[in-house]
Amino acid sequence: MNDPNCIFCKIARGLIPAKKIYDDDDVMAFHDIRPQAPVHFLIVPKAHIASLYDAQPPHQAALGKMLLIAGGLAREAGATDGFRTIVNNGRVGHQEVYHVHMHVLGGPDPLGPMLSRRN
Ligand code: 5GP
Ligand code: ZN
Repeated sequence: MNDPNCIFCKIARGLIPAKKIYDDDDVMAFHDIRPQAPVHFLIVPKAHIASLYDAQPPHQAALGKMLLIAGGLAREAGATDGFRTIVNNGRVGHQEVYHVHMHVLGGPDPLGPMLSRRN
């Protein structure tokens, strides 16, 4: 359920601080420590799921809720004219923190194309 060495488990359990914007039994959301856009927060499941490769049926409710609440939280954070969600997975996905998290990124200005093809 929890990994004592995981930074997002520690945030979820209140052991290290974060600028929290949402919290319930299944998920929490907090601002990214190194924002890449004017709006940039993360939605994470409370349960330690290393990446989406590790998602199992019992995680369905939390994973669904991450999408369900994204729009409302984005709007509350000031992204009222669109936003982007990103979930990085594994080496190729350039995942840095191995606890599933959904980035929510927003303007006011357009974020640009999703990716520039490199290979
Ligand atoms: P990833 O590359 O794994 O998808 O992104 C991890 C994200 O977590 C990065 O955007 C990074 O800035 C953010 N992050 C890493 N450590 C912390 C932390 O201790 N607190 C917060 N709020 N964000 C963090
Ligand atoms: Zn964790």
